Amino acid sequence: MFLDNAIGDHRDPTSRDEGCSRKLPRPLSGARARWILLLSAVGLVVTRMALVRGFIAPIYVAGASMAGTLQGQHVRVECEDCQINYVSGLRFRGDHGETTCPNCGFGQQTPASRVYRGDRVLVDQWYGRWRQPSRWDLVALPSPDGSGEMIVKRIIGMPGEQVSIQSGDLFVDGRLLRKPLSVFRDMMVLVHDDRFYPTTSAKLPRRWRGERAGTAWRPATQGYRFEEHTEVAGNSARSIQDWLTYRHWLCFSKGVPRTQRTAETSVLDSLGYNQDSPRGQLNAVSDLVLSGSIVIDGEGRFSLRVADGPTWYMAELSWPERKWLLRRDDDVLLTVDSQGVSRGVPFLVEYGMFDRTILLTVNGRVLLKLEVNPVSRVPDDAPTSRLSIGAVGLTMDVSSLRVARDVYFLAPGPPWTQWNAPRRLPSGHFLLLGDNSAISTDSRHWGSVGVTGNSITGRVIRWSDSRSFVGK
Ligand SMILES: [Zn+2]
Repeated sequence: MFLDNAIGDHRDPTSRDEGCSRKLPRPLSGARARWILLLSAVGLVVTRMALVRGFIAPIYVAGASMAGTLQGQHVRVECEDCQINYVSGLRFRGDHGETTCPNCGFGQQTPASRVYRGDRVLVDQWYGRWRQPSRWDLVALPSPDGSGEMIVKRIIGMPGEQVSIQSGDLFVDGRLLRKPLSVFRDMMVLVHDDRFYPTTSAKLPRRWRGERAGTAWRPATQGYRFEEHTEVAGNSARSIQDWLTYRHWLCFSKGVPRTQRTAETSVLDSLGYNQDSPRGQLNAVSDLVLSGSIVIDGEGRFSLRVADGPTWYMAELSWPERKWLLRRDDDVLLTVDSQGVSRGVPFLVEYGMFDRTILLTVNGRVLLKLEVNPVSRVPDDAPTSRLSIGAVGLTMDVSSLRVARDVYFLAPGPPWTQWNAPRRLPSGHFLLLGDNSAISTDSRHWGSVGVTGNSITGRVIRWSDSRSFVGK
């Protein structure tokens, strides 16, 4: 069945009354009349082309294959425990309409009144006529299964390329495909938002916790505060980072007893939208990025830390030196002057790793970026906790902490983590995948490798979507 990919065509009738002018007409000069004639002729040609083949068609996404990025038919749920808003695919709820909060693991019934149709998008039907389609673009096309249904996918492979999937990442001709930051932000899946923590369940452990006994990190009204204890603030203690570390829970319902809700685990490639849908396996995801708001005061340093297997990559800011360092364990790899950071003034950071790229942004601007070599797999002794914030000496407030993960691409069957396109894409052909890799039917399943550019109806542009609801 291709229904899960289908998008319904619900064109809205456009009926807009134009206002009337009460001004009296002025006599036309010769030049002005010629301009009006010319513009009218151009207008007629454009209108005729638009009638034959519309510029832009509004449609609603109905299926689940792009979920995470574009939602199909779904239910909207406000978690009764942590109060975050999330969406769940309409047909992926449990037998009795129950869903599990992807943020805190709380299960609840979902009233039928909360059913919404999919996200509304526009299809630019002149796409590809004046320029070559681009990698990462979202496109609409008639399903290659001949059902006549329109589907939405993302362009991954370009003509002449051979695409493969390995451990969640995409490879082209054997080389790792790295997403631009803007594409990562568009595709990333929210794993946890610390502004929402369970308030109705019996006292549950915090998701961000100090690692060492006697940690100076304390939960605050908003987020966490680090203030060095005066009794350990001597010179000897000032070299030891005090780490605040993210702990992940099993926040999905499939086969997980409620009593194990707070069991610690690696971040997995489960998706709140998919809920109880059957899956071959869930995979540990190491492509994680934290974001949050930070205020520092005093002197000292703080670090943001992400694990790559047994290795730690740390972005470290020293004050008053005002230098950012990027370290791999004890080795300094990069140095850059601090920008966008002043004492006592909140600043936004993003830090983590995706597609083997270590990245730090401050107030949205990339400050540190390092591409590291691909590895075949994450070693078994990889730490469960992969993200930390460390401080020593200074005073630090951290709030609005969010953890997001990259999309984990899958093979269409066992072995789920390894897939190779059978051959290179022929000239003029593109390989298309859905962002919801566990559900999507796409180039991995279609008999021929890729689709021709001519079969693509147009580029998909967001119009109104459920992202204004999710995570609020
Ligand atoms: Zn919740």
